[in-house]
Order: sequence, then structure tokens, then C-alpha cells
Amino acid sequence: MHNQLIQYLTHLVKINSVNPDLSNDGQGEREIAEYVQRHFQGLGIPSNVNTVKDDRCNTTAFIIGKNPNKILLMNGHLDTVGIEGMDKPFTLRKDGDKLYGRGTYDMLAGCAIQMGLATYFAKNPSPISLAFTFVADEENLSIGMEHLVSHFLTTLPTKPFLGIFMEPTEEAIGISHKGYTWFEITIKGLAAHGSRPEEGINAIFPLSSGLKELETINAELAKEKAHPYLGNATLHPGMISGGTAQSVIAAEAKLNWERRTLPGESQEKIDRELKRVITAIQNAQGNHNVIGRQVYQRPPNEADDEPMIQKLREVAGGQDYNGMSYWADSALASMAGIPSILFGPAGHGAHAKDEWVSESSLLNCYQAMKSFILGFNS
Ligand SMILES: [Zn+2]
Repeated sequence: MHNQLIQYLTHLVKINSVNPDLSNDGQGEREIAEYVQRHFQGLGIPSNVNTVKDDRCNTTAFIIGKNPNKILLMNGHLDTVGIEGMDKPFTLRKDGDKLYGRGTYDMLAGCAIQMGLATYFAKNPSPISLAFTFVADEENLSIGMEHLVSHFLTTLPTKPFLGIFMEPTEEAIGISHKGYTWFEITIKGLAAHGSRPEEGINAIFPLSSGLKELETINAELAKEKAHPYLGNATLHPGMISGGTAQSVIAAEAKLNWERRTLPGESQEKIDRELKRVITAIQNAQGNHNVIGRQVYQRPPNEADDEPMIQKLREVAGGQDYNGMSYWADSALASMAGIPSILFGPAGHGAHAKDEWVSESSLLNCYQAMKSFILGFNS
């Protein structure tokens, strides 16, 4: 299997699957989705390519196990981030244990592992049913995973008992990850000549009150009890904008911030933070108006430490659980009622120029997944 896994990864890397919404180099996931589909079809496993929109595609396949109603969901995203500044991003290059190439680590290696498991369980009966899923657009808005939840997971005979998302976790079980919420505040003023500020309403000055309040909230978050795997919640202003010219009193200004959320934090809590920032800006000197709103949200994710996950941890080498700071598609499966975790190989350079995955770790993860599935025989 070792050579086959490398071969699958080589092919996956070779196909440009850069997310077209993140980079002009992207062509969408149709070509790579069809390559994955052909792999399953070649093994005699029924497989579908589902078009999410245009050339944004998911691939799914299903192996019926001895216990047909016990379904393990496996998942990988087919898209990668851009290739700016990379030398031969679509050619797998081996240097010792490191396999270089765009997407090797995040997360075509995880996709290759699914393909390897399919090859094995096409010939050897699986004790449980296996749902193989490969999705588009995880690196941007997760339209692939949303489509999978509504168009594929709903067609399964029973709800999967566990979802394993093969993102890179250095062979640890990523039992939780953070969520995020985006907020935007618009301050409305009145334009005037810069020499006659008394005739206008400055929309930029009040920004500083909002920024100060954000800093205060952030400091409070840092003092809260830390999550065992994710640390403290944080926020940061990601964008500020406003004004039209240096010589003009600004009629409008915007403040956008991101709040990274932890499992267990309530909507009311982050709504209160929004209110505090609005109030701080309203109370700033001037006759400006303030409008604030939540513009986007992805939930955090956390699975319970249950026997099933302990079993996977055992076969994966017994490392401590881990929390991933980044958001992942697993949260959407959890929202659909499937306990979900992250598990994948070691490597380096997700979203960076020097991306590589560890060859030995790729093999370890494959073996762990295989043992985990075969463990249901006993
Ligand atoms: Zn990823």
C-alpha cells in the first residue's frame, strides 16, 4: 500500500485544485473530483460526482459493511489555497521523509488515505459501512460541505456514528476546534470641507472608542478560564475603513472584527460584545449614527471523549487529544448530528510556500484508520 498511497498523492497534487475564489490560478474541483471518482469506479465501488455549482464538485462513494447500518463517515477537502511564489507546486517532490507539493499536507494526503482505504476494503470485507466523501471549497465558504450535508448525508440509511476529517493533526485526535464570527459596525456622519469641520459630522473619530472597547473585551477574554485544548477566545479588528479624501470630513467609517469562538460560548455572550462596542461608539463625542451587525458565522466544534474516539486514539499511537485553532468542515457535520473529529498526518506549511507532508506519517495514519475499521470485527 505504501507505493500506492504515494502514487495517489502524486496524482492528486498533479491536478490543479486551487480554490478559484481565493486565486486566479484556480479551476475548481471538477477534474480532481472526477479523478477520485474513477479510482472508486475502477475498484467496482459506486461513486458519484456532485456539482455544487459550475466546476465546484464533490465526490462520494459508499462501501456496504457486514453491519450495514453502522456507518463511518470519512471526509477530505479537494481544494487547496493558491500557489503564488511556489516552484512546481503540482509536482510531488520527495526529500527524505518529506513529500513537497501544494496540498500535500492540507489535505490531499488525507484524500489519498481515503483512496487507499477504498483499495483495501474493495478486496477485504469491511465490518462497518464506509462513506467516503471529498468536498469542494473548504478553504473558502465550505459550499462543498454544505452541499454534502444536505444532498448526501441525508440519503444515507442511518446517521454515521462518527465523522473523521483527515485534516493534518500530526497524528493526534483533533477533538475540538474554534469557530468564528464576523462583525461589522458602520458609523454615519456628514461630509464637509476640511477647513470647516463644524459643518460636518466626523465618522472616523468615534472609531477609536470602538477600538478601545474591543481591546478591553479582548483583555477580559484573556482572563477567562482557558479551554483545555484551545486556550482562550480572542478577537481582533481585521479591517478599518472610512473617508474619501484627506481634505474632507469623513461621512462614513467601518470597523470589522473577527471573534474566534470556543465550544460552549453562547450567542448571547458575543451579541453582548457587539452591543458594548456599539454603545462605546455611540457615547463618543459627536452626532454620528452607529449601525452594527453580525455578518458571518461558523460554529466551533467539540466531540465528547467517548469509547469510539478513545479506540481511534489507541490505534493512532495514543497521543493526547488536541484542539485545532483553525475552523474546519467537521463543525458542519457535527451540526448535522454526527460527532466529528480531525485526524491526519504530520507535516508543515499549510497555506505556505514550502508545504510538505511526512511520508511515514501518511502511512501511519492509513494504518491507524485501517486498524480502527477492522477493530469492529471483534
Ligand atoms: Zn484543510
